[in-house]
Amino acid sequence: LFLDQPLGQGQTVPLSREQAHYLFSVMRLGAGAHVLVFNGQAGEWLAEVTEAGKRGGMLTCRHRTRPLQMPPDLWFLFAPIKKARTDFIVEKAAELGAARICPVQTDFTNSDRIRRDRLQAHAVEAAEQCGGTFVPEVADLTRLDAVLSAWPEGRRLMFCDEALVGAGRTLGDVPRGPWAILIGPEGGFSEAERTCLRALPFGHPVSLGPRVLRADTAAVAALTVWQQALGD
Ligand code: SAM
Repeated sequence: LFLDQPLGQGQTVPLSREQAHYLFSVMRLGAGAHVLVFNGQAGEWLAEVTEAGKRGGMLTCRHRTRPLQMPPDLWFLFAPIKKARTDFIVEKAAELGAARICPVQTDFTNSDRIRRDRLQAHAVEAAEQCGGTFVPEVADLTRLDAVLSAWPEGRRLMFCDEALVGAGRTLGDVPRGPWAILIGPEGGFSEAERTCLRALPFGHPVSLGPRVLRADTAAVAALTVWQQALGD
């Protein structure tokens, strides 16, 4: 269970109405029961239900069961598409081990706003479902050119472009270290973006095969290729 609260030895953690409903009505737990909890920073803790009520309750952390397990230093950049498919992309990026999820606005991006809180909640659910102790942060929507002009020293960018079929490199023999993956929108990248991406000194053009994949499929494929080649 994800709790957005400090966790530590003997720490008491109040439960919201929704959390109490989930634990006591849905899971049918009561006082004295044990629950595994995490907050994305302090590892996983075994907590005891010390108060159980209809509108709330209290957990007390007893001991840490696992330390924080950080994923590899991978940023996942993508252009948001329709709502349900954007939700899917965020969920899969969190499951497949992205450390940071960055929605970017490109020339052909369909939406000019995102619900960051909603996407962050999907990242939390994904972490819960895969038993992770870490939750990737979902950043605010930012223009791609702004992201590229503030690019951090040493981070490489695997940008996926269907126009690279036959010309894209694979990730077989590239160095380890901080990486980012970029997936474009439904309409792909504009020619101006392609020119800019291909000129980047830190850019690695990658083809995901001979067929044009939907953006959500490309996201899963790229994350998997990266994990296979470079992930831990
Ligand atoms: N119109 C479709 C859709 O509705 O999603 C196709 C979108 S495709 C243009 C979206 C993005 O997926 C591209 O910008 C690129 O980043 C990635 N992509 C799709 N197929 C690819 C391929 N074969 N190689 C590399 N990248 C690919």
